[in-house]
Amino acid sequence: MQAMMMHRNMKVADILTFAAEIHPTGEIVSRRTEGDLHRTTYADTAKRVAQLAHGLVALGMTPGDRIATLAWNGYRHFELYYAISGAGGVCHTINPRLSQEQMLYIVGHADDKVLFVDLTFVPMIEALADQLPPDLRFVLMTDKAHMPDSAVAFLCYEDLLDGHPTQFEWPDIDENDAAGLCYTSGTTGNPKGTLFSHRSMVLHAMSVAIALPKALNQSSRILPVVPLFHVNAWGLPYAAPLTGASLIFPGPALDGESLFNLMDAEKVYSAWGVPTVWLGLLGQIEAEGRIPDGLGDVVIGGSAAPRSMIEAFEAKGINVCHAWGMTEMSPVGTQGNLTPHLEDLPLEDRLNIKSKQGRRIFGVDLKIVDEAGVALPHDGQTSGELYVRGNTIASGYFNNPDATADALDSDGWFGTGDMATIDGDGYLTITDRAKDLIKSGGEWISSLDLENAAMAHPCVANCAVIAVPHAKWDERPLLVVVPADGQQVDKAELLALLGKQFAKWQVPDDVVFTDALPLTATGKISKLTLRAIYADHVLPDA
Ligand code: ADP
Repeated sequence: MQAMMMHRNMKVADILTFAAEIHPTGEIVSRRTEGDLHRTTYADTAKRVAQLAHGLVALGMTPGDRIATLAWNGYRHFELYYAISGAGGVCHTINPRLSQEQMLYIVGHADDKVLFVDLTFVPMIEALADQLPPDLRFVLMTDKAHMPDSAVAFLCYEDLLDGHPTQFEWPDIDENDAAGLCYTSGTTGNPKGTLFSHRSMVLHAMSVAIALPKALNQSSRILPVVPLFHVNAWGLPYAAPLTGASLIFPGPALDGESLFNLMDAEKVYSAWGVPTVWLGLLGQIEAEGRIPDGLGDVVIGGSAAPRSMIEAFEAKGINVCHAWGMTEMSPVGTQGNLTPHLEDLPLEDRLNIKSKQGRRIFGVDLKIVDEAGVALPHDGQTSGELYVRGNTIASGYFNNPDATADALDSDGWFGTGDMATIDGDGYLTITDRAKDLIKSGGEWISSLDLENAAMAHPCVANCAVIAVPHAKWDERPLLVVVPADGQQVDKAELLALLGKQFAKWQVPDDVVFTDALPLTATGKISKLTLRAIYADHVLPDA
């Protein structure tokens, strides 16, 4: 029997319209590429978004057109998210840290009509201009006063808005139409595009808001270090206005000192980002001898948060929420905030739970399977490949039939490429990315577990464990360590520490030291690069 309820399309434009009416004074504070701090509200932003939508239509944007952005976290980038999708276009965010080849591939593959660019990236566009499609238009995200002399015919963002009405008749878009496009980093092969719908974006925003009420509410001030240019800044541009939380955008300054000062001045309560960013902030907290005023919550995801990092924040009274997800999941899949009855546990127990990747948010189903695709028990012990299903999860890749054919299993679940266990309380533990596991003599060794243990050594600032080819065992683990400032780390001492926690065959065969670890375009440690660097490393017993 059909129900008798209205059907209204879910549209991203409705989120900002709602915020402007119900949370009009919610703030957006941005450190601009021009150098100063800019403040606005959801109410005023909605007016500028309407003007921008008129500007886009005047530029010739038609429904379904891909409009690209190459920009930091700031209010203009936020405006583009809403104006492009709201007026029927597809907001295609491009990661400026990608290689030139990848960027050219992505712009061509997406068939972008317009590219919006922050001032920082003018030299990059000038260098690439000859190789970009000849009919691509460029808009520089600044005002007239800051327009540079350039050989590229940049339009001016503020001119695009100028003189247009502050109201826009948002079209009634089919909720299954595309609203956003984001390419995976493509560490192997070409990047693949995840095409988000209006419906998936709205549902994702609601699920994230429900799952993280501490961070997402009217009185909260949130700083997304996680970029608008990748993975939709973990959904914050939608979830924050939905709940009325204020957004503090850090612009291009993502070092520990700049983040500390902005958080301190703006009384940021909750900050979201990948582990590498928090190493910088923790260093600055150490140097200042205090935490930024008002900071009470840190969301860490994108790669595994080391236990020692969680402990460092928690010891300072800052709640850590360890989250997991991926681009193809809009991106949030799980969150690790403790339920009230677990919050009273002793610190050690809380740290053990918080080191896991948390529990699924509403709308995301999880299963782990063996190599034959048979579902495995959720007993916290059995590890299998993680599959996901839900309304916020990709069913394939944009204009890529081959990758689409491989994306889902025969029951329609999406393969994450992660290995995981799930325990009886629903806590997910990512044991490794399948491709980062080390296969030694037919047994698997988790690089993540070893890294977690090594990070607990006070002289280790950062580290990674990778597989090195081995004649007898196929692969053996190698530990690559960045020593903490001015510290000497003793190889034998480090291996002895690991020897206490791991079976003999799991302990790395060798330790090498380096000044810095290579990072991917999304700020994660690039194990692909590390494996190439150390491919010929001769292990002591080899
Ligand atoms: P990329 O950075 O490669 O473009 P994503 O940002 O979508 O892609 O990364 C998704 C992957 O990041 C996941 O499949 C998983 O391997 C890893 N990841 C994300 N969060 C966590 C976490 N909390 N712990 C461990 N791994 C994580």
